[in-house]
Amino acid sequence: MATSAAAGTSAEDQELWSLDTPSFFHGAVALMYILAVVTAIAVSRTTAPYGRHVRRGWGWLMEVRDGWRVMESPALWAMLIVYTLGNHDHDPVPVFLLRLWQVHYTNRVIIYPWRMQVVGKGMPMIVVAAAFAFNIFNGYIQARQISHYGHYPSSRLRDPAFLLGLLLFLAGLAANFWADTVLLNLRSGPEERAYRIPTGFLFDHVSSPNYLCEMVEWLGWAVMTRSWAGLAFFVYTVANLAPRAASNHEWYRKKFADYPRSRRALVPFVW
Ligand code: NDP
Repeated sequence: MATSAAAGTSAEDQELWSLDTPSFFHGAVALMYILAVVTAIAVSRTTAPYGRHVRRGWGWLMEVRDGWRVMESPALWAMLIVYTLGNHDHDPVPVFLLRLWQVHYTNRVIIYPWRMQVVGKGMPMIVVAAAFAFNIFNGYIQARQISHYGHYPSSRLRDPAFLLGLLLFLAGLAANFWADTVLLNLRSGPEERAYRIPTGFLFDHVSSPNYLCEMVEWLGWAVMTRSWAGLAFFVYTVANLAPRAASNHEWYRKKFADYPRSRRALVPFVW
């Protein structure tokens, strides 16, 4: 794991603020694993109230596309601010990792909400606030890992493990974009609220291929960064999305009497 090869060079460490020591960073990474366990338990008991699972009793609502723009935005700006404060922010591998991150989040913050077929649907502010806080926290961790505490010589770009991670990341990114596209095209226009049974490729095997591909993407990130920090984000993503995939699967089965019985929740042929 390349978590702290550059840590401890206190004279040259460019600290963000007095708290931002290597032990603060390691504590934050450890907290992410704890948060993953807490999140898995919480969202298994109570499905996060947005999208098809939105319901009354969760307070003020924000227009759903604005909700996505706001809650995911720290992954662009907070990540970039912290990244540029790192000692290795001009090194080729950190720059490459930053660009991959930015491709994913430019889609999620700007392109995805713009493509959403929805008018007047709300998302609870509490969901937006929780995700906003998480994205600041995660942005700090991932940025600090790749541009400051991690050790990423240029030779990594020829390392088979790094290339495998890159392949996973790009495959997950492309397939996640494709799955989002299939779902967003199920409705005829922004006024429509109906749900339909998605079909084709991975949708013939699982109910939430968008989540599966998101997980593959962050697994690729964990492999590329080869760090406890990168792994923490993958673990958190699974903890957050696997229970929701189970809820979506149950929801489809209840809603559609003709929902394909062979279709699994998240992992083809398995679960
Ligand atoms: P959903 O699959 O619940 O919804 C995606 C979009 O498609 C929504 O606009 C939804 O409308 C619409 N939609 C979904 N299913 C149907 C259907 N059967 N018929 C018609 N329209 C449908 O995904 P999420 O909103 O949970 O997530 C969106 C993206 O964000 C995904 O790619 C996901 O991987 C990613 N994500 C990543 C997280 C992470 O931890 N890294 C966390 C959460 C999301 P409506 O809103 O009306 O239901």
